[in-house]
Amino acid sequence: MPPELALDRPLSELKGIGPKLAEKCQAIGLTLVSDLLFHLPYKYQNRTRLTPIAQLKLGMAVVIEGEIRAVQVVFGRRRSLLCRIADASGLMTMRLFHFSRAQEAMLKKGRRIRCYGEVRMGATGLEMNHPEYRVSDSQDFPPLEQSLTPLYPSTEGLNQLRLRALVDQAITALKRQGGLKEWLPPDWLSGWGLPTLTDALLTLHHPEPGSDTDALLSGLHPAQQRLAVEELLAHHLSLMQVRQKTQSLGAPALPPSRTLVSQLLRQLPFTLTGAQQRVVGEIQADMALSQPMLRLVQGDVGSGKTLVAMMAALQAIEAGYQVAMMAPTELLAEQHYRTLSVWAEPLGVTTGLLVGKTGKKQRTALLQQLAQGDLQLLMGTHALFQQGVDYHKLGLVIIDEQHRFGVHQRLALKEKAVLGLPHQLTMTATPIPRTLAMTAYADLDVSIIDELPPGRTPVVTTVISQDRRDAVVRRVDAACADGRQVYWVCTLIEESEELQAEAAEETADALHRALPQHRIGLLHGRMKPADKTRLMEAFKAAELDILVATTVIEVGVDVPNASVMIIENPERLGLAQLHQLRGRVGRGSADSYCLLMFGSPLSAQGKQRLEVMRSTSDGFIIAEEDLKLRGPGEVLGTRQTGALQFRVADLERDRNWLPVIPELAQKLVREKPSHISPLVNRWLFNADRYAQV
Ligand code: ADP
Ligand code: MG
Repeated sequence: MPPELALDRPLSELKGIGPKLAEKCQAIGLTLVSDLLFHLPYKYQNRTRLTPIAQLKLGMAVVIEGEIRAVQVVFGRRRSLLCRIADASGLMTMRLFHFSRAQEAMLKKGRRIRCYGEVRMGATGLEMNHPEYRVSDSQDFPPLEQSLTPLYPSTEGLNQLRLRALVDQAITALKRQGGLKEWLPPDWLSGWGLPTLTDALLTLHHPEPGSDTDALLSGLHPAQQRLAVEELLAHHLSLMQVRQKTQSLGAPALPPSRTLVSQLLRQLPFTLTGAQQRVVGEIQADMALSQPMLRLVQGDVGSGKTLVAMMAALQAIEAGYQVAMMAPTELLAEQHYRTLSVWAEPLGVTTGLLVGKTGKKQRTALLQQLAQGDLQLLMGTHALFQQGVDYHKLGLVIIDEQHRFGVHQRLALKEKAVLGLPHQLTMTATPIPRTLAMTAYADLDVSIIDELPPGRTPVVTTVISQDRRDAVVRRVDAACADGRQVYWVCTLIEESEELQAEAAEETADALHRALPQHRIGLLHGRMKPADKTRLMEAFKAAELDILVATTVIEVGVDVPNASVMIIENPERLGLAQLHQLRGRVGRGSADSYCLLMFGSPLSAQGKQRLEVMRSTSDGFIIAEEDLKLRGPGEVLGTRQTGALQFRVADLERDRNWLPVIPELAQKLVREKPSHISPLVNRWLFNADRYAQV
């Protein structure tokens, strides 16, 4: 029998579990007996010793034992039963808001009582509300617990006692088979002073009474760190495997462009920045290989990613291949279409735009051209990869602002890509701190455009209270009178486009009344794409002075003459998003302003965040601060919900490990290649099942 068989059995085979309970377990990701081992407590209770009443402090969760001195039902705001308890050191009160007659009868003066509960401040001094308790006439309470009591993540209908009993059976099975296989080299573990996997699991399910509870609760206990490092490593190795697999499938080798790229550069009124040149070189080298490029270009807003993408496209087109460029919104797709068509036309490169609203006739014509290979550069939204869109010879897929795409759209793209396996270039303006990027994008090569084109003046940012709205309106008035254009951005916490649209409408109305002499437009997500485009075009053509908008203008929109931006309630947005928004101004040569008009009162953290926005315009610094203030989940956005789900590891808490993980992965590949698959399966196989529930 294989040694792990018992643990690999469905947990429905354990004692005390029927089909109903098994179903509940499944709902929280527990299917096999071994899953229970990795179902770790989120908290511990210490029921291993009695605490003298005199030592009680607010917030402690402890066991006390004493004699009932008085019992009384009081009628305050709520009726409650008070039970005064004394031990040799002092006096405290147990308070019950709900109690039965039987309970009342049990609680008799002179009896002994033992309680476990949290200490709080009540009307009588230190109290416990509804503790777990036992009453006895003698002192014969059952023995105290031997180890800290684990509390497990659970679900309705599966109580802690039952869950604990199931976990304990899994632990018995684990001990019977002599532990789990260890995939990390023992010298690594001893070097770090970390326990084996088996010891770590045993410790976490039943920590010794003397354990460092603070460490356990913060996740920094060696046993937790041991699991975290293994999980991070498994995650990294799995991304490396995905990458290897993709690359082993091969892609067309596309030689660097000899004519089109230089023709393009000749028509531009500017030259490439050093950073653009470097990144273009990296892309060029990737595409010349016969394995698919998997490259992510990170570049702050306005760093000139579109041009870099166009140069990559030309390399594919010159080699006789087609290019698909996908943007997250129709507005952006249309903007790309306009920009790139202007560049493409003199080169004789054919372009097309395919979005959801593309008419049937036009769509049919486009698809036909595409299938015949007459269309070289197709831009659009995820409509580019829907059923019925067939490419003649797809050589390169470009995804702009990839962080804005949902998981489903990216998966659909992946499926499509597997068929033809073109080169892949993704672009994002969300600066991700380096260590996080190494973890989140271990399957991609990362290029960074860390330089803005010359001549940009930084946006002067002011933080101002909404109480001073009138002053802000006067500033807008003055700016418009001066020939500048203004964005006025309305934010709402609600995701609902409808509510956002309403709020923006109200603001636009108010501005109309306050500034009747200026031309004001309103842009929101509920508008038809064609109307949005028309409006943006009018704004771009300076037919509007003020554009009131929801956050739909966040990514990529380019209007150089707009040099003032008001953001209402900026405290509701993440720093990265604010940075994106602010990037809409400061695109021309005029001095630019951004007014962050916060709703008071602002929390201390809110103040700190806006201060970050005020003091820097460096996207990477902002991202680092965002990471500190809000944690990696928010910073990574959808990437987190898609690919980065950890059971033990925490990217923020365990960030010191992140830089060494890639090295460790390489070392394992060199020294223990046979350990890689089982290690990945142990963590990722289960993670898949988690993702499905
Ligand atoms: P993003 O990186 O945010 O997508 P864009 O590609 O939209 O930025 O570029 C922003 C603006 O900068 C565009 O108007 C573009 O034409 C211009 N631009 C790009 N590269 C350069 C450069 N090297 N010098 C000057 N302007 C440039
Ligand atoms: Mg862009």
